[in-house]
Amino acid sequence: MVFEGLADKLQQTFKKLRGRGKLSESDVNDALREVRMALLEADVNFKVVKDFVAKVKERAIGHEVLESLTPAQQVVKIVNDELTALMGGTMSRIAISPKPPTVVMLVGLQGAGKTTTAGKLALLLKKQNKRPLLVAADIYRPAAIKQLEVLGEKLEIPVFTLGDKEKPVVIAKKAIEHAQAYANDIVIIDTAGRLHINAELMDELKSVKQTVRPHEILLVVDAMTGQDAVTVAESFNNDLGLDGVILTKLDGDARGGAALSVKAVTGCPIKFAGMGEKLEALEPFHPDRMASRILGMGDVLSLIEKAEQAIDFDKAQALEKKLRKEEFTLDDFLDQLQQVRKLGSLDQILGMIPGMGGLTKKLQGAELDEKQLKQVEAIIRSMTRKERRDPNIINGSRRKRIAAGSGTRVQDVNRLLKQFVDARKMMKQLQQHQKSGKKGGFKL
Ligand code: GDP
Repeated sequence: MVFEGLADKLQQTFKKLRGRGKLSESDVNDALREVRMALLEADVNFKVVKDFVAKVKERAIGHEVLESLTPAQQVVKIVNDELTALMGGTMSRIAISPKPPTVVMLVGLQGAGKTTTAGKLALLLKKQNKRPLLVAADIYRPAAIKQLEVLGEKLEIPVFTLGDKEKPVVIAKKAIEHAQAYANDIVIIDTAGRLHINAELMDELKSVKQTVRPHEILLVVDAMTGQDAVTVAESFNNDLGLDGVILTKLDGDARGGAALSVKAVTGCPIKFAGMGEKLEALEPFHPDRMASRILGMGDVLSLIEKAEQAIDFDKAQALEKKLRKEEFTLDDFLDQLQQVRKLGSLDQILGMIPGMGGLTKKLQGAELDEKQLKQVEAIIRSMTRKERRDPNIINGSRRKRIAAGSGTRVQDVNRLLKQFVDARKMMKQLQQHQKSGKKGGFKL
C-alpha cells in the first residue's frame, strides 16, 4: 500500500503521545525525533526532512499545544497541515486553454509509465466530457506507437500517428492541425523517452516545446525510484521547465519519498498519481487527502468519488427491481463483484477508510482476496446461462463440470453457490427491512 511504512511509524509515534495526557517539551521533541527518522527511512530528501521537522517543532512547542487539553491531537493536526503544505497545499489542475485545443506534452524516461499514463489521462478527460486526441510521438521505443494505438482503440479515443519515420516536431505540429480540424479540445503528446537523460533527448523536447508551445508540460516519473525520481524532475525542470509532475506506480510505493519531496525540491506540483495498471487508475493528486491517508485518517472523499464514477446508477436501479421480484441471478452477482472491483484493490479501498489502513497488513489476505474474486469470475463464466439464472439445477455432476471448466475444485464451486444463496437471502431481508419503513442501508 502507498506510504505503508511511513504511515505505520507515524501512527505508532502519535499513539504513544496520546497515551501521555499532558505533554512536556521533551515529549514533543522525542516524538519529532521519531517523525524525522520515519521520514528519512521513507526516503524523503534530507533537507526537506530538516525543514519539515523545524516547522512542526516551531508550532508544536507553543503554549496552545502544550497547555491544551488535547495536546497529542494538536500535534497530529500540525503534522497533517505541514504534510499537506509539503505536497503542495491544494490540488493543482491542468490549465485548460480558453482557445482549444489545450496542448499537454508528456515527457519522461523510458519505463516510467508515460505511454500508459497518456491513455489514462485521456480517459480521465474523456469522462469530464472532453474530446482528447492522443499523439504518438515516441518514435524511438520499439512498440510505443503500437501500444498507444491499442490503448486508443480500447478507450475509444483517437490516436494521431505518422509512424516512426517523421520527426517528433513534425508529428506534434500536424497533430495539432488535425485536432483543430476534428474539434478535439485536448491534445496529449506522448513524446520520446530515453533510458537516461541526455542532451539529444532534451534538444528534441525543447524543439517540440518551441514549435507547439504546449499549455502544460508534465513529467511522468516512477514513484518507486524514490530520490532518483526527484533528481530526474530537477533536471527536466531546469532544462525544459515543467508545469507539473505525474507520479506513477504510487500503488507499489510503500515508502513515499518521491511524493513527499518532489514539490519541495523542484517547486513543481504533483498533478496526478498513477495507482495501478488499470486504465482507470489515475487520480488527481490531493495533498490534503494524501496527508490524511499517511496519518491513518482515511480519505472518504476519494472513496465516494471513485464510487460515483465506478457505479452505474441505471444498473443499480435495475438491480433493485430484480431484488424486489426475486430475480437476482448469478450474472447479477458477478456484475456486482465487478463493479466493486473497479473501485480498486481491497487494500486501496481499506486505506481510504479512517482507521482501516492498518488492517490491510493484518489481513495479509488482500492479494488472496483479489485471487478469489478472479476465481469467482471464472466459476460463474463456466456455467451455462440456464445455470446462472437458476442455480438450483446445479447438481453434483454439473458442479464437477463447472469446477473442471474453471480450473477450480468442487469445494470452490460449492462455496460460491452458498455465498450466492446467502447474499440473496441477505438482500431479501434488507428489502423487507426497508419496506417495513425502518431506515436500512449499510454505512461505510
Ligand atoms: P513508458 O516507457 O514510460 O511509455 O512506459 P509504459 O507506459 O510502457 O509503462 C511501463 C510499465 O509500467 C507498464 O507495465 C505499465 O503497466 C506500468 N505502469 C504504468 N503506470 C503504473 C501505475 O500507476 N501503477 C503500476 N502498478 N504500474 C504502472
